[in-house]
Amino acid sequence: MSSPHQTLLNRILTDNLKNVVDTIESTCLRCDRDPSEIKLIAVTKYAPLEAVRELNRIGLRVYGENRPQQLVERAETLVKDSGWSPSEWHLIGQLQRNKVRAVLPHVGLIHSIDSVKLLSHVDRVAEENGASPAVLLQVNTSGEESKSGFTPEKLLEDWEQITAFDNVRLRGLMTMAPFTEETTRVRKTFSELRRILADLNATGQLPSMTELSMGMSSDYQIAIEEGATMIRLGSTLFEGTSELSTDT
Ligand SMILES: *Cc1c(COP(=O)(O)O)cnc(C)c1O
Repeated sequence: MSSPHQTLLNRILTDNLKNVVDTIESTCLRCDRDPSEIKLIAVTKYAPLEAVRELNRIGLRVYGENRPQQLVERAETLVKDSGWSPSEWHLIGQLQRNKVRAVLPHVGLIHSIDSVKLLSHVDRVAEENGASPAVLLQVNTSGEESKSGFTPEKLLEDWEQITAFDNVRLRGLMTMAPFTEETTRVRKTFSELRRILADLNATGQLPSMTELSMGMSSDYQIAIEEGATMIRLGSTLFEGTSELSTDT
């Protein structure tokens, strides 16, 4: 039985999701891409838990959290729900080395590997646990000091070391655009990431990496035009649900 409250929550989320899916489709049409190449990650960091549950009921299966602690808590809580369909959790925010052990069993993809030191630690913990986590390398293509990630130069410099680890599976790259209205700068941040991925793949040192995680609520259309394979959407998906929420 669903309460009027749940019905309303369902309606809001269904509408938000429909808007996003329509936008993905029209953007793909415009730039001649196949919408099935684009994985939608629902970023739940500000979303009430009940909204995450409802979105799962509606059919979304991939969630992104930016704090390791909250990812672990939510993954553990929701997996015990009788109505919860199995889903994948992605870590999209900064990972401290002392959180790696806790987060590893719950995470389907780490988007935020920003140094060889962190990668090496993830690799070591993975080896101890017999795990082989999928990871993306975060690259600071905007040049903003506030953003973490490898600089493009550092990434090339470290590339030999990066490809030497046996337990992590490198799947691609991630970036964040600057907060600006200047779409030219945003676009450049994304096209730069695509170029770097092509350059790295051209070294032939690994089976090719395919993922480009780029694009958030305000800029995912540009990201899709520039080749995104994963978009990370929070506010546009959950808009209107916090006001409604009865939990915290
Ligand atoms: C919060 C966050 C997002 C989603 O941002 P919205 O603007 O709410 O869509 C995407 N990626 C990262 C790394 C984030 O921290």
